[in-house]
Amino acid sequence: MTRPEPRSDLRGLEGYHSPQVDVDVRLNTNESPFAPPTAFVEEWLGALREAPLHRYPDRAVAKLRSALGTHLGADPATIFCANGSNEVLQTLLLAYGGFGRRAVVFEPSYALHTHIAEITGTDLVVGERRDDYTVDPDEAAKLIADSDPAVTFLCSPNNPSGTVEPLATIEAVLAATDGLVVVDEAYGEFAPQSALTIQADHDRLVVVRTFSKVWSMAAVRLGFCVAAPGIVALLDKVVLPYALSTPTQLAGELALGFTDEMARRVETLVTERERLRSGLEALDGLTVFPSGANFLLVRVADDGHALWQRLLDRGVLVRDFSRRERLDDCLRITVGTPDENDACLEAFAGALGEDAA
Ligand SMILES: *Cc1c(COP(=O)(O)O)cnc(C)c1O
Repeated sequence: MTRPEPRSDLRGLEGYHSPQVDVDVRLNTNESPFAPPTAFVEEWLGALREAPLHRYPDRAVAKLRSALGTHLGADPATIFCANGSNEVLQTLLLAYGGFGRRAVVFEPSYALHTHIAEITGTDLVVGERRDDYTVDPDEAAKLIADSDPAVTFLCSPNNPSGTVEPLATIEAVLAATDGLVVVDEAYGEFAPQSALTIQADHDRLVVVRTFSKVWSMAAVRLGFCVAAPGIVALLDKVVLPYALSTPTQLAGELALGFTDEMARRVETLVTERERLRSGLEALDGLTVFPSGANFLLVRVADDGHALWQRLLDRGVLVRDFSRRERLDDCLRITVGTPDENDACLEAFAGALGEDAA
């Protein structure tokens, strides 16, 4: 008997891997180090007790869209919500990518852009970033002219480099393509500028955001994008009906009542990021890249993987990109609580000292 044959283009597909190790200080996945506010959890549980769980959720996601519209100063008809921004990205590629269509990515960047392009049968065109990990707008325009992509991905701040893309680059990319330009702003709240400020001027610009990072809700799975109403209407048709559960919709709505507290957390994490940055820069053997996110990328002068292991031996887990193409000897460190960041700095100092010994 022959086995069912999967799509031939999926044969070489690699799964998404983000290995977890059970250690004291976990600074490897860019989550918030803080649990959501207790008052939020209480309100959410209270609302869930009242919710008609025997009924399908609101398919139009009306209340959450309206609350997000107020929060962002945007028309609710420009907002599409899904189970994490990864599902937003998947829905965008189901609608605009697919067989015979191309997506442009600039590497190194977030692995899921590439991965979701592959699983939706979208052909990939890979552009290179400059040595400082910014996108060269002229090179980008050339690549787009040559490849005529349906979708171009930018990521600002870029994961894993932390690089904030100038708005001028985003505008140059928009001017170069007839396709969609998707700016992944998973860390947008930590950055000094956002493509949200120019979204309404560009009907092909899609800005993607998430509740997974700043909002301390990675476990809930909620993300959204802001785009022209015509794009949002198509995404609504393409996504599975009732995709967003009632608990998820309620969580998003109620979380927006805690905007001030979240803004204070962003301030704390940005201050901590800069403290961590100067601490790491003071150590010999590390280059720290500028970051507008809640993480820092460092390049280790010596063997990045060996240092990663010595940090782990000291109970500090960071993300090892040392063997990824274009990220040789690089490690990515998520900003944690002040105590975790102290532990991280101490581990780096010790692990680098051990190297010198
Ligand atoms: C963490 C992250 C996301 C978040 O994905 P969710 O599905 O919303 O949890 C999206 N984009 C980038 C670049 C990220 O780093």
